[in-house]
Amino acid sequence: MYKKPYLLTALLTAVMLVFSAVTTAVAENKAAQVLIVNVDVWDGTSDEVQKGVDVLVEGNKIKRIAKGIKAPNATTINGQGGTLTPGLIDMHQHLTLNGGTAAGNNWDAYVQGAHASRAAEYLLRSGFTTIRDIAGQTLGMKKAVNEGILPGPRMYTSGPALGPTGGHSDWNTRTAGPGAKDYQQLVGNTHVVDGRAEWLKAARWNLRNGADFLKVMAGGGVASEFDPLHLQSPSPEEMAAAVQAASEYGTYVAIHAYTDDAYLKSVKAGVRSFEHGFLATEKSIKELKKADAWWSFQPYGGYALLCGEYPDWYTDVMIKKGKMVCEGVINAIKTMKKHKIKTFNGSDMFGWDNWHNAIVNAAAPTTLLPEDLRYTSLETMKMSTSLPGQFLREETNQSRNDFLDAKLGVVEEGAWADILIWNGDPTKDVSLILEGDNLRMVMKDGKVYKNLLVDPEHESFRAAPAPAGHSFNM
Ligand SMILES: [Zn+2]
Repeated sequence: MYKKPYLLTALLTAVMLVFSAVTTAVAENKAAQVLIVNVDVWDGTSDEVQKGVDVLVEGNKIKRIAKGIKAPNATTINGQGGTLTPGLIDMHQHLTLNGGTAAGNNWDAYVQGAHASRAAEYLLRSGFTTIRDIAGQTLGMKKAVNEGILPGPRMYTSGPALGPTGGHSDWNTRTAGPGAKDYQQLVGNTHVVDGRAEWLKAARWNLRNGADFLKVMAGGGVASEFDPLHLQSPSPEEMAAAVQAASEYGTYVAIHAYTDDAYLKSVKAGVRSFEHGFLATEKSIKELKKADAWWSFQPYGGYALLCGEYPDWYTDVMIKKGKMVCEGVINAIKTMKKHKIKTFNGSDMFGWDNWHNAIVNAAAPTTLLPEDLRYTSLETMKMSTSLPGQFLREETNQSRNDFLDAKLGVVEEGAWADILIWNGDPTKDVSLILEGDNLRMVMKDGKVYKNLLVDPEHESFRAAPAPAGHSFNM
């Protein structure tokens, strides 16, 4: 009789052991592990690469970075001595503005969407695991990509740009009457709005529909017909309406502008992200420094800083403005560097065959400039990884940021598993990113989208996109 309790205990223990084995297996199933070995690791912020460390990914986050990690249940990826880096971030994309600004009126929204979807997949497989779409109707696209319905990089989007009649986002015809809406306005690639009330309504409409931030055309631009570069609209009241709406949702305004006047007006209004700025001087750049605002640098890699080379669809007016911008560009970059303005990179590439130019642009700061002004490969890589990651984290709050649960743009324990493996070290020579075959693996959110580390026959092989345009298999 006295043995019975022992028997019971033994039985109970056995049942509990089986139960715990099952729950462990279930937990492991939920968060599959991938162990990446035989790589050197650049974390996105350091000046040095760590030699021969392993990276353990669990689910969609990085769990451990150390030498000789043991993870018996993990799928192992052999990095073949490559350099592992964070995924690239492109801070200035226009996925739906295919064919140029005015030309977009000739393509219906179905074609714009189809093009945007292919561009998103192409960008992801080129190494961009996050993009910021900054003018264009990509609100639905962002939702579909971020929910995993369509392939593409993680997306932040402004939705339609806001600008005044005659501003940089007014792409209507010369014969259109006041207030008439062209197709680009009807499909929501742009808002042409005047007066505080219209600005507030358009801004709140964007935010209601999921915009992560707002894009404002704060001065004239190059790729548009009617707006002189030194245009003084929008008014301070219109600008203030946009900033107010953004702050109601815990987010920020990014502006398109080239000149001191437009930069000064915007910094005073509380704008945080300053695109372009190639005619800005000490006068406004000092104010950016005081406000601790960010410069979004577009080196226009495919077009040699808009100096002498222009997209096919540019009109004579656009080329003339491109030449004016070109005259200020060296001084602007020099002054931004002198004042150590926090800087990230964005390609501003749109058009049918322009997708490859995003990667060209990511390498461009090392080559396009006079020698004393060139960025190093290491600085250039930071401008496309940890620096934009920091900006995206700091300038939006939980209500306007799908990805605040972990860090972007870095390889750290706990960060999102957005990882690239390169043949060679891009922090020593960033030009290697221009050759698609040097990108051996792309992982976003723990999933592999490109994998050249195994033979083409292997089940985990994922092909690369072809170098440019439409002639590739997805
Ligand atoms: Zn742009």
